Amino acid sequence: MKELYQIYAFVAGLLIGSFLNVVIIRLPQNKNMVSKRSACPKCDTQLKWYHNIPVLSFAFLRGKCGFCGARISWRYPLIEILTGLIAFWLFPEDLSELSLAFYAFHFTVACIFICHFFIDLDHQLLLDSLNLYLLAAVLPFAFFTSQWTFWAVGGAVGFGGTLLVTWLFYKIRGQIGLGGGDIKLYGILGILLGPMGIVFNIFLSCFVGALVGILLISLGKTTKEKPLPFGPSILLVASFQIYFPEYAHQLQQWMF
Ligand SMILES: [Zn+2]
Repeated sequence: MKELYQIYAFVAGLLIGSFLNVVIIRLPQNKNMVSKRSACPKCDTQLKWYHNIPVLSFAFLRGKCGFCGARISWRYPLIEILTGLIAFWLFPEDLSELSLAFYAFHFTVACIFICHFFIDLDHQLLLDSLNLYLLAAVLPFAFFTSQWTFWAVGGAVGFGGTLLVTWLFYKIRGQIGLGGGDIKLYGILGILLGPMGIVFNIFLSCFVGALVGILLISLGKTTKEKPLPFGPSILLVASFQIYFPEYAHQLQQWMF
């Protein structure tokens, strides 16, 4: 029986992933999410309903617009499949109210992470609106599942700690290291991960960010002067901590 529900969850995940694609494109442009049907970015023809079926349309059209033949990014089906797989994989063993509430929470966080990740890649922007949605999900969860010292200190360390480091960096080097969106995201994640968890995240995300930067510079994909979006590193490390807590804990104990 669980397998049947899981397959439903996968299909629902594909459809939600399709919506996330719309959010990733329209939210940074302040466009309406639901009123207008999507159009081809190249020829601006409004898509038919059968062009909007997750994954299948992309496969049928062989990755091209049905009207003008412009290439459609592989990112669309990728995000749909990723969201579907997350919905499938997170599905709880039992269907108790508590398990379903945890499921809803973890899936919601994953969806916000996906939007944050790709919008930051595209625009170097961690939107306030997405940070607010994340806060609205994280705060009640933390309130009910952990001691107030855990989430309050975690949030203070995440926000205050990174703000202080950024300020010191600015005083010494005259450069802004982290953006405001990064600092807010660290603060919200601190509420969820607690003081030790957020310190671990800050260390590891800086390490991952530096590693990706060095890799991209050595491959000639970017230059030292060009700022790299930092949000994806924070989000990858946070996903590791939230969805693979045992492994993250082992690494955390080994590091500290
Ligand atoms: Zn087109």
